[in-house]
Amino acid sequence: MQMDSAPGSTPDFTYDQLPGRVVFGPGKLDQLEAEVARLGASRALVLCTPEQTAQAEAAAARLGARCAGLFAGAVMHVPIEVARAARAEAQRLGADCAVAIGGGSTIGLGKAIALESALPIIAVPTTYAGSEMTPIYGLTEAGVKKTGRDARVLPRVVIYDPLLTLGLPARIGGPSGINAIAHCVEALYAQDANPIISMLAEEGIRALAGSLPQVMRAPDDVAARSRALYGAWLAGAALGAVGMALHHKLCHTLGGSFNLPHAETHTIVLPHAVAYNSAAAPAAMARVAQALGAADAAQGLYDLAASLGAPLALKDIGMPEAGIARAADLAVQNPYYNPCPVTRDGILALLDNAYHGRRPNK
Ligand code: NAD
Repeated sequence: MQMDSAPGSTPDFTYDQLPGRVVFGPGKLDQLEAEVARLGASRALVLCTPEQTAQAEAAAARLGARCAGLFAGAVMHVPIEVARAARAEAQRLGADCAVAIGGGSTIGLGKAIALESALPIIAVPTTYAGSEMTPIYGLTEAGVKKTGRDARVLPRVVIYDPLLTLGLPARIGGPSGINAIAHCVEALYAQDANPIISMLAEEGIRALAGSLPQVMRAPDDVAARSRALYGAWLAGAALGAVGMALHHKLCHTLGGSFNLPHAETHTIVLPHAVAYNSAAAPAAMARVAQALGAADAAQGLYDLAASLGAPLALKDIGMPEAGIARAADLAVQNPYYNPCPVTRDGILALLDNAYHGRRPNK
Protein backbone atom coordinates (compact mmCIF):
# COMPACT_ATOMS: atom_id res chain seq x y z
CA MET A 1 0.00 0.00 0.00
CA GLN A 2 1.24 3.48 -0.77
CA MET A 3 2.29 5.34 2.31
CA ASP A 4 0.70 8.78 2.58
CA SER A 5 3.70 11.04 2.48
CA ALA A 6 1.91 13.89 4.28
CA PRO A 7 3.90 15.04 7.31
CA GLY A 8 1.97 14.08 10.44
CA SER A 9 0.38 10.94 8.98
CA THR A 10 0.78 7.65 10.87
CA PRO A 11 3.96 5.92 9.68
CA ASP A 12 3.49 2.34 8.42
CA PHE A 13 6.35 1.00 6.28
CA THR A 14 9.18 -1.48 5.67
CA TYR A 15 12.58 -0.04 4.78
CA ASP A 16 15.79 -1.91 3.84
CA GLN A 17 18.59 0.59 4.28
CA LEU A 18 21.46 0.29 1.79
CA PRO A 19 25.09 0.27 2.96
CA GLY A 20 27.72 2.60 1.50
CA ARG A 21 30.27 5.28 2.31
CA VAL A 22 29.90 8.83 0.99
CA VAL A 23 32.74 11.34 0.90
CA PHE A 24 31.44 14.78 -0.11
CA GLY A 25 33.08 18.16 -0.66
CA PRO A 26 35.10 20.35 -3.03
CA GLY A 27 38.53 18.78 -3.61
CA LYS A 28 37.60 15.37 -2.16
CA LEU A 29 39.00 13.60 -5.24
CA ASP A 30 42.31 14.06 -3.43
CA GLN A 31 41.17 11.26 -1.10
CA LEU A 32 40.86 8.76 -3.94
CA GLU A 33 44.05 6.83 -3.20
CA ALA A 34 43.23 6.69 0.51
CA GLU A 35 39.77 5.32 -0.31
CA VAL A 36 41.23 2.62 -2.58
CA ALA A 37 43.68 1.69 0.18
CA ARG A 38 40.85 1.66 2.71
CA LEU A 39 39.15 -1.06 0.62
CA GLY A 40 42.38 -3.07 0.81
CA ALA A 41 42.84 -2.66 -2.94
CA SER A 42 46.05 -1.90 -4.81
CA ARG A 43 45.17 -2.36 -8.53
CA ALA A 44 42.38 0.02 -9.52
CA LEU A 45 40.95 0.05 -13.04
CA VAL A 46 39.78 3.59 -13.85
CA LEU A 47 36.71 3.83 -16.12
CA CYS A 48 35.45 6.81 -18.14
CA THR A 49 33.90 7.86 -21.46
CA PRO A 50 36.22 8.94 -24.28
CA GLU A 51 35.13 12.56 -23.64
CA GLN A 52 36.25 12.45 -20.01
CA THR A 53 39.65 10.87 -20.58
CA ALA A 54 41.55 13.92 -19.30
CA GLN A 55 39.51 14.01 -16.08
CA ALA A 56 40.04 10.27 -15.59
CA GLU A 57 43.78 10.57 -16.25
CA ALA A 58 43.97 13.22 -13.55
CA ALA A 59 42.21 10.83 -11.17
CA ALA A 60 44.52 7.98 -12.21
CA ALA A 61 47.53 10.18 -11.49
CA ARG A 62 46.28 10.64 -7.93
CA LEU A 63 46.27 6.86 -7.55
CA GLY A 64 49.96 6.53 -8.37
CA ALA A 65 51.05 2.88 -8.14
CA ARG A 66 47.53 1.85 -7.14
CA CYS A 67 46.33 2.49 -10.72
CA ALA A 68 46.38 -0.68 -12.79
CA GLY A 69 45.04 0.94 -15.96
CA LEU A 70 42.46 3.13 -17.67
CA PHE A 71 39.51 1.98 -19.80
CA ALA A 72 38.08 4.99 -21.65
CA GLY A 73 35.34 3.18 -23.57
CA ALA A 74 32.16 3.82 -21.57
CA VAL A 75 29.12 4.71 -23.70
CA MET A 76 25.42 5.33 -23.12
CA HIS A 77 23.22 2.35 -22.08
CA VAL A 78 26.13 -0.08 -21.46
CA PRO A 79 26.15 -2.21 -24.64
CA ILE A 80 27.06 -5.81 -23.76
CA GLU A 81 30.07 -5.70 -26.11
CA VAL A 82 31.54 -2.77 -24.16
CA ALA A 83 30.80 -4.52 -20.86
CA ARG A 84 32.60 -7.65 -22.10
CA ALA A 85 35.63 -5.63 -23.21
CA ALA A 86 35.84 -3.84 -19.83
CA ARG A 87 35.44 -7.13 -17.93
CA ALA A 88 38.25 -8.68 -19.99
CA GLU A 89 40.46 -5.66 -19.34
CA ALA A 90 39.82 -5.87 -15.58
CA GLN A 91 40.76 -9.53 -15.64
CA ARG A 92 43.83 -9.00 -17.81
CA LEU A 93 45.13 -6.31 -15.47
CA GLY A 94 44.31 -8.27 -12.31
CA ALA A 95 42.22 -5.31 -11.09
CA ASP A 96 40.96 -5.51 -7.52
CA CYS A 97 38.65 -2.48 -7.69
CA ALA A 98 37.05 -0.21 -10.28
CA VAL A 99 37.03 3.58 -10.10
CA ALA A 100 34.17 4.89 -12.27
CA ILE A 101 34.55 8.61 -12.92
CA GLY A 102 31.71 10.14 -14.92
CA GLY A 103 27.94 10.03 -15.31
CA GLY A 104 25.46 7.19 -15.26
CA SER A 105 26.95 5.59 -18.37
CA THR A 106 30.40 5.18 -16.82
CA ILE A 107 29.10 4.10 -13.43
CA GLY A 108 26.85 1.67 -15.31
CA LEU A 109 29.93 0.14 -16.92
CA GLY A 110 31.49 -0.32 -13.47
CA LYS A 111 28.31 -2.08 -12.40
CA ALA A 112 28.46 -4.39 -15.42
CA ILE A 113 31.93 -5.49 -14.31
CA ALA A 114 30.88 -5.89 -10.67
CA LEU A 115 27.82 -7.92 -11.65
CA GLU A 116 30.08 -10.78 -12.79
CA SER A 117 33.15 -10.35 -10.64
CA ALA A 118 31.87 -8.59 -7.48
CA LEU A 119 34.77 -6.14 -7.96
CA PRO A 120 34.23 -3.28 -5.50
CA ILE A 121 33.34 0.05 -7.17
CA ILE A 122 34.42 3.50 -6.11
CA ALA A 123 32.08 5.87 -7.95
CA VAL A 124 33.07 9.46 -8.65
CA PRO A 125 29.92 10.97 -10.20
CA THR A 126 30.26 14.01 -12.43
CA THR A 127 26.57 14.39 -13.38
CA TYR A 128 23.38 14.37 -11.30
CA ALA A 129 21.99 11.03 -12.61
CA GLY A 130 22.23 9.22 -9.25
CA SER A 131 23.35 5.74 -10.39
CA GLU A 132 26.18 5.78 -7.85
CA MET A 133 23.70 5.33 -4.95
CA THR A 134 21.72 2.43 -6.40
CA PRO A 135 22.02 -1.37 -6.75
CA ILE A 136 20.32 -1.05 -10.17
CA TYR A 137 22.21 -2.02 -13.30
CA GLY A 138 21.35 -1.83 -17.00
CA LEU A 139 22.81 -3.73 -19.95
CA THR A 140 21.88 -3.43 -23.62
CA GLU A 141 21.97 -6.56 -25.77
CA ALA A 142 20.72 -6.70 -29.37
CA GLY A 143 19.14 -3.27 -28.93
CA VAL A 144 17.16 -4.23 -25.83
CA LYS A 145 18.08 -2.65 -22.48
CA LYS A 146 17.52 -4.88 -19.48
CA THR A 147 17.70 -3.58 -15.96
CA GLY A 148 17.96 -5.45 -12.69
CA ARG A 149 18.89 -5.08 -9.03
CA ASP A 150 21.89 -6.78 -7.47
CA ALA A 151 23.67 -5.90 -4.23
CA ARG A 152 27.07 -6.57 -5.89
CA VAL A 153 26.74 -3.54 -8.18
CA LEU A 154 26.12 -0.98 -5.42
CA PRO A 155 29.28 1.17 -5.21
CA ARG A 156 31.13 0.66 -1.94
CA VAL A 157 32.34 4.26 -1.82
CA VAL A 158 31.04 7.39 -3.54
CA ILE A 159 33.25 10.47 -3.79
CA TYR A 160 31.25 13.59 -4.61
CA ASP A 161 33.60 16.37 -5.61
CA PRO A 162 31.69 19.42 -6.92
CA LEU A 163 34.87 20.72 -8.57
CA LEU A 164 34.55 17.87 -11.09
CA THR A 165 31.18 19.26 -12.19
CA LEU A 166 32.49 22.74 -13.03
CA GLY A 167 32.99 21.66 -16.64
CA LEU A 168 29.56 20.07 -16.95
CA PRO A 169 28.01 22.04 -19.82
CA ALA A 170 24.59 23.65 -19.26
CA ARG A 171 23.01 21.49 -21.96
CA ILE A 172 23.95 18.35 -19.97
CA GLY A 173 23.73 19.79 -16.45
CA GLY A 174 20.19 21.21 -16.66
CA PRO A 175 18.49 18.02 -17.88
CA SER A 176 20.67 15.91 -15.59
CA GLY A 177 19.46 17.96 -12.61
CA ILE A 178 15.81 17.47 -13.62
CA ASN A 179 16.52 13.74 -14.03
CA ALA A 180 17.55 13.79 -10.35
CA ILE A 181 14.40 15.70 -9.39
CA ALA A 182 12.38 12.98 -11.15
CA HIS A 183 13.81 10.38 -8.75
CA CYS A 184 12.73 12.53 -5.81
CA VAL A 185 9.24 13.15 -7.18
CA GLU A 186 8.50 9.47 -7.77
CA ALA A 187 10.02 8.53 -4.39
CA LEU A 188 7.43 10.75 -2.70
CA TYR A 189 4.53 8.74 -4.14
CA ALA A 190 6.27 5.35 -4.29
CA GLN A 191 4.37 2.24 -3.32
CA ASP A 192 7.06 1.51 -0.72
CA ALA A 193 7.67 5.13 0.31
CA ASN A 194 8.98 5.68 3.83
CA PRO A 195 9.43 8.79 5.99
CA ILE A 196 13.23 8.95 5.79
CA ILE A 197 13.34 8.68 2.02
CA SER A 198 10.48 11.15 1.68
CA MET A 199 12.49 13.67 3.71
CA LEU A 200 15.54 13.08 1.52
CA ALA A 201 13.43 13.39 -1.61
CA GLU A 202 11.81 16.65 -0.59
CA GLU A 203 15.17 18.13 0.43
CA GLY A 204 16.67 16.86 -2.84
CA ILE A 205 14.09 18.77 -4.88
CA ARG A 206 14.65 21.88 -2.76
CA ALA A 207 18.43 21.71 -3.18
CA LEU A 208 18.31 21.08 -6.94
CA ALA A 209 15.56 23.55 -7.81
CA GLY A 210 17.25 26.17 -5.63
CA SER A 211 20.69 25.75 -7.19
CA LEU A 212 20.28 24.76 -10.85
CA PRO A 213 19.29 28.25 -12.09
CA GLN A 214 22.42 29.66 -10.43
CA VAL A 215 24.54 26.84 -11.90
CA MET A 216 23.29 27.94 -15.33
CA ARG A 217 23.94 31.64 -14.63
CA ALA A 218 27.35 31.16 -13.03
CA PRO A 219 28.90 27.79 -13.98
CA ASP A 220 31.96 28.43 -11.79
CA ASP A 221 29.97 29.05 -8.61
CA VAL A 222 31.29 26.23 -6.40
CA ALA A 223 28.63 26.79 -3.73
CA ALA A 224 25.81 26.37 -6.27
CA ARG A 225 27.54 23.37 -7.84
CA SER A 226 27.93 21.82 -4.38
CA ARG A 227 24.28 22.32 -3.53
CA ALA A 228 23.19 20.78 -6.84
CA LEU A 229 25.45 17.77 -6.28
CA TYR A 230 24.14 17.46 -2.72
CA GLY A 231 20.62 17.33 -4.17
CA ALA A 232 21.76 14.70 -6.66
CA TRP A 233 23.12 12.57 -3.82
CA LEU A 234 19.77 12.72 -2.03
CA ALA A 235 17.98 11.91 -5.29
CA GLY A 236 20.23 8.92 -5.94
CA ALA A 237 19.61 7.65 -2.41
CA ALA A 238 15.85 7.92 -3.02
CA LEU A 239 16.12 6.11 -6.36
CA GLY A 240 18.09 3.29 -4.76
CA ALA A 241 15.71 2.86 -1.85
CA VAL A 242 12.16 2.86 -3.22
CA GLY A 243 10.36 1.82 -6.39
CA MET A 244 9.66 4.22 -9.23
CA ALA A 245 6.41 4.46 -11.22
CA LEU A 246 4.86 5.82 -14.44
CA HIS A 247 7.43 8.52 -15.14
CA HIS A 248 10.49 6.22 -15.00
CA LYS A 249 8.70 3.42 -16.90
CA LEU A 250 7.67 5.81 -19.66
CA CYS A 251 11.16 7.29 -19.99
CA HIS A 252 12.67 3.80 -20.11
CA THR A 253 10.24 2.84 -22.89
CA LEU A 254 10.84 6.04 -24.86
CA GLY A 255 14.62 5.87 -24.49
CA GLY A 256 14.76 2.21 -25.47
CA SER A 257 12.27 2.36 -28.36
CA PHE A 258 13.41 5.58 -30.02
CA ASN A 259 16.99 5.89 -28.75
CA LEU A 260 16.23 9.24 -27.10
CA PRO A 261 18.78 10.89 -24.79
CA HIS A 262 18.22 9.84 -21.18
CA ALA A 263 18.23 13.06 -19.13
CA GLU A 264 16.43 15.14 -21.77
CA THR A 265 13.64 12.56 -22.02
CA HIS A 266 13.19 12.73 -18.23
CA THR A 267 13.14 16.50 -18.34
CA ILE A 268 10.41 16.65 -20.96
CA VAL A 269 8.17 13.90 -19.59
CA LEU A 270 8.33 14.78 -15.88
CA PRO A 271 5.83 17.69 -15.76
CA HIS A 272 3.33 15.61 -17.76
CA ALA A 273 3.75 12.48 -15.64
CA VAL A 274 3.29 14.64 -12.54
CA ALA A 275 0.14 16.22 -13.97
CA TYR A 276 -1.14 12.71 -14.74
CA ASN A 277 -0.59 11.56 -11.14
CA SER A 278 -1.50 14.84 -9.43
CA ALA A 279 -5.01 14.06 -8.27
CA ALA A 280 -4.05 10.54 -7.12
CA ALA A 281 -1.13 11.63 -4.92
CA PRO A 282 -2.08 15.01 -3.46
CA ALA A 283 0.13 14.82 -0.35
CA ALA A 284 3.23 14.00 -2.40
CA MET A 285 2.42 16.73 -4.92
CA ALA A 286 2.02 19.29 -2.15
CA ARG A 287 5.53 18.43 -0.94
CA VAL A 288 6.93 18.68 -4.49
CA ALA A 289 5.29 22.08 -5.00
CA GLN A 290 6.52 23.34 -1.64
CA ALA A 291 10.08 22.22 -2.35
CA LEU A 292 9.96 23.92 -5.75
CA GLY A 293 8.49 27.09 -4.26
CA ALA A 294 5.63 26.80 -6.77
CA ALA A 295 1.85 26.80 -6.46
CA ASP A 296 1.52 23.58 -8.47
CA ALA A 297 4.01 20.70 -8.87
CA ALA A 298 3.56 20.05 -12.62
CA GLN A 299 3.55 23.74 -13.56
CA GLY A 300 6.54 24.40 -11.32
CA LEU A 301 8.55 21.60 -12.96
CA TYR A 302 7.70 22.84 -16.45
CA ASP A 303 8.71 26.39 -15.50
CA LEU A 304 11.97 25.16 -13.95
CA ALA A 305 12.92 23.21 -17.08
CA ALA A 306 12.08 26.23 -19.26
CA SER A 307 14.14 28.54 -17.04
CA LEU A 308 17.15 26.22 -17.45
CA GLY A 309 16.84 26.36 -21.23
CA ALA A 310 16.26 22.59 -21.32
CA PRO A 311 14.30 20.96 -24.14
CA LEU A 312 10.54 20.87 -23.54
CA ALA A 313 9.26 18.82 -26.49
CA LEU A 314 9.93 15.20 -27.47
CA LYS A 315 9.76 16.25 -31.12
CA ASP A 316 12.89 18.33 -30.54
CA ILE A 317 15.01 15.41 -29.29
CA GLY A 318 14.32 12.91 -32.05
CA MET A 319 10.98 11.33 -31.18
CA PRO A 320 8.91 10.43 -34.26
CA GLU A 321 5.25 11.51 -34.02
CA ALA A 322 4.18 8.05 -35.16
CA GLY A 323 5.95 6.69 -32.07
CA ILE A 324 3.37 8.16 -29.68
CA ALA A 325 0.84 5.37 -30.26
CA ARG A 326 3.50 2.68 -30.09
CA ALA A 327 4.86 4.06 -26.82
CA ALA A 328 1.33 4.18 -25.37
CA ASP A 329 0.80 0.53 -26.36
CA LEU A 330 4.07 -0.47 -24.69
CA ALA A 331 3.29 1.58 -21.57
CA VAL A 332 0.12 -0.39 -20.83
CA GLN A 333 1.55 -3.83 -21.71
CA ASN A 334 3.03 -4.80 -18.35
CA PRO A 335 1.16 -3.66 -15.26
CA TYR A 336 3.12 -1.88 -12.53
CA TYR A 337 2.33 0.27 -9.52
CA ASN A 338 1.31 3.86 -10.19
CA PRO A 339 -0.80 6.15 -8.00
CA CYS A 340 -3.22 6.79 -10.89
CA PRO A 341 -4.40 3.88 -13.06
CA VAL A 342 -2.44 3.72 -16.33
CA THR A 343 -4.82 3.84 -19.31
CA ARG A 344 -3.91 3.91 -22.99
CA ASP A 345 -6.00 7.04 -23.63
CA GLY A 346 -4.45 8.79 -20.65
CA ILE A 347 -0.91 7.96 -21.80
CA LEU A 348 -1.72 9.01 -25.38
CA ALA A 349 -2.79 12.45 -24.15
CA LEU A 350 0.24 12.72 -21.86
CA LEU A 351 2.65 11.81 -24.67
CA ASP A 352 0.93 14.09 -27.14
CA ASN A 353 1.45 17.03 -24.78
CA ALA A 354 5.07 16.01 -24.17
CA TYR A 355 5.68 15.53 -27.89
CA HIS A 356 4.54 19.08 -28.68
CA GLY A 357 6.07 20.62 -25.56
CA ARG A 358 2.77 22.02 -24.33
CA ARG A 359 2.33 23.23 -20.77
CA PRO A 360 1.06 20.24 -18.73
CA ASN A 361 -2.68 19.86 -18.12
CA LYS A 362 -3.93 21.48 -14.93
P1 NAD B 1 26.18 10.09 -19.28
O1 NAD B 1 26.91 9.33 -18.23
O2 NAD B 1 25.85 9.36 -20.53
O3 NAD B 1 27.01 11.40 -19.61
C1 NAD B 1 26.61 12.24 -20.67
C2 NAD B 1 27.85 12.91 -21.30
O4 NAD B 1 28.34 13.90 -20.39
C3 NAD B 1 29.02 11.95 -21.53
O5 NAD B 1 29.62 12.28 -22.74
C4 NAD B 1 29.93 12.25 -20.38
O6 NAD B 1 31.27 11.93 -20.64
C5 NAD B 1 29.71 13.73 -20.20
N1 NAD B 1 30.03 14.25 -18.88
C6 NAD B 1 29.67 13.71 -17.70
N2 NAD B 1 30.11 14.47 -16.69
C7 NAD B 1 30.78 15.51 -17.24
C8 NAD B 1 31.45 16.64 -16.71
N3 NAD B 1 31.50 16.87 -15.40
N4 NAD B 1 32.04 17.49 -17.57
C9 NAD B 1 31.96 17.29 -18.91
N5 NAD B 1 31.31 16.25 -19.47
C10 NAD B 1 30.74 15.38 -18.64
O7 NAD B 1 24.82 10.72 -18.75
P2 NAD B 1 24.01 10.54 -17.40
O8 NAD B 1 22.75 11.28 -17.60
O9 NAD B 1 24.84 10.83 -16.21
O10 NAD B 1 23.70 8.98 -17.35
C11 NAD B 1 22.73 8.40 -18.18
C12 NAD B 1 22.80 6.88 -18.10
O11 NAD B 1 22.82 6.45 -16.76
C13 NAD B 1 21.60 6.22 -18.74
O12 NAD B 1 22.01 5.09 -19.47
C14 NAD B 1 20.74 5.81 -17.56
O13 NAD B 1 19.91 4.71 -17.84
C15 NAD B 1 21.79 5.51 -16.54
N6 NAD B 1 21.30 5.67 -15.15
C16 NAD B 1 21.31 4.57 -14.36
C17 NAD B 1 20.89 4.68 -13.05
C18 NAD B 1 20.92 3.47 -12.15
O14 NAD B 1 20.57 3.54 -10.99
N7 NAD B 1 21.36 2.34 -12.65
C19 NAD B 1 20.45 5.91 -12.54
C20 NAD B 1 20.47 7.01 -13.38
C21 NAD B 1 20.91 6.89 -14.68
